[in-house]
Amino acid sequence: MSGLIDEHADSPGLHPIHRHARLLAGAVALLSIGIFLVAVPFARIALPQVPAFIPVYESSVILNDLVTAVLLFGQCVIARSRALGALASGYLYTSVIALLHMLSFPGLFSPTGLLHAGPQSTAWIYMFWHAGFPVFVMTYALLKDRKQDRMTGYTVGAKRLALIVGGVLCLALGMVVFATAGEWLLPEIIKNNHYTPTMRWVAGAVWGLCLLALVVLYRQRSRSTIDLWLMVVLCVWICDIALSAVFNGGRYDLGFYLGRFYGMAAGSFVLLLLLVENTLLHSRLAAALDELKRLATTDPLTGVANRRAFDAALSAHWRRGAYDRATLSLLMIDIDFFKRFNDSHGHVEGDRCLVSVAECLAQTVRRGSDLVARYGGEEFVVLMPETDAAAAAHVAQRMCDAVAALAIPNAGSSHMPYVTISVGVASQVVETGAQMTDLTKAADHALYLAKAAGRGRVEEAGLVA
Ligand code: GH3
Ligand code: MG
Ligand code: MG
Repeated sequence: MSGLIDEHADSPGLHPIHRHARLLAGAVALLSIGIFLVAVPFARIALPQVPAFIPVYESSVILNDLVTAVLLFGQCVIARSRALGALASGYLYTSVIALLHMLSFPGLFSPTGLLHAGPQSTAWIYMFWHAGFPVFVMTYALLKDRKQDRMTGYTVGAKRLALIVGGVLCLALGMVVFATAGEWLLPEIIKNNHYTPTMRWVAGAVWGLCLLALVVLYRQRSRSTIDLWLMVVLCVWICDIALSAVFNGGRYDLGFYLGRFYGMAAGSFVLLLLLVENTLLHSRLAAALDELKRLATTDPLTGVANRRAFDAALSAHWRRGAYDRATLSLLMIDIDFFKRFNDSHGHVEGDRCLVSVAECLAQTVRRGSDLVARYGGEEFVVLMPETDAAAAAHVAQRMCDAVAALAIPNAGSSHMPYVTISVGVASQVVETGAQMTDLTKAADHALYLAKAAGRGRVEEAGLVA
């Protein structure tokens, strides 16, 4: 049950970093850097122009980032975390701006690109896209480090969520309008599919933002698994930007294509993490739910079913039995002179005695469908479906004998010098018109008769009409 009291058990990716996750993330980052270093000298090699590559790559980025954003917004609501809201916004921003980037790409949907894109627009949208994400990541890291990030009174309702989403959409649209309608304000960074020298400076600045975000993430007071993978994402982004905007020569060369593959990989890390952790969370929840059910239906002292479970089972048998007119038998069991047992042996011994008697009763029933439950105090009940009065009385007598055979001394008993039980047995054919309470009343009355007749015995009420 430790998962139930774990502060972050409900928040995938927010728990401290496991050693294996650190190793895996380190290996991915090193592999990315390794491939990058090998590829850099070949980044300018021109490759065939495959415009279809762009929508394939960008569709995957758009969908990955959108799903990641939805999952993170969910976490933001559950964990009441502004930081996660900022990160979710970052993924939403990249998803939307990647879509607009794709629409504006020359040669895809129209020779010059949609959205009134000019020759510079698409390259600038790419820069705004890649500069925006590290800013959101830094906001996330800085908010997360603040003590009041997880505030108990803070709720993210539908209205607030709609405001955040609306704000992010406006920002992405605003950047795209700037890169299209305001293109004339922006310096030339691409000419005939080749980058101009200014591109180095612009890409360098975006690169610097990613590095800064990496440092801010690294310098956090405490890092979670999401932070670890965000650092890997930024490493991969740094390789992406370097390959596709700094070390290559323009569109459709090796650096351009490889950079896009890096971008595609980077988009899936946090998503995969969230999906894996969500699956683990589900299995933990299922286990916790089983444990809760067990706790809710078990008597904590004796380990047999509790009164709640008995009541539920009785009602269920009653509902089911009404169709097939089965005979339901009930034993009501009470330990004799138990007050005196407590008085002479103490409550601790009294509890031990209750446990022994409960175990003995549970071992005496033979059918899996029979239910032994603690009814309260030193009283137990046994519910026996599809069992007639004679068979029930037989089991009741076996229980009396078995408890007596335990030979637990009870100095206060006037009946025998050891612990005994009295049992009342009642049976009823479950059919329409029959009352469930008649069965319990009859078993209770039979128990009273067993007590009155001297205790340590079975009394039968027979078949209740
Ligand atoms: P009788 O033969 O008529 O049933 O006499 P009794 O003393 O068993 O009946 P009574 O109802 O007077 O006393 C029941 C006693 O059971 C009183 C209470 O202290 C004891 N008891 C009830 N629940 C527990 C429990 O959880 N632990 C312990 N140690 N004693 C319990
Ligand atoms: Mg009693
Ligand atoms: Mg008693």
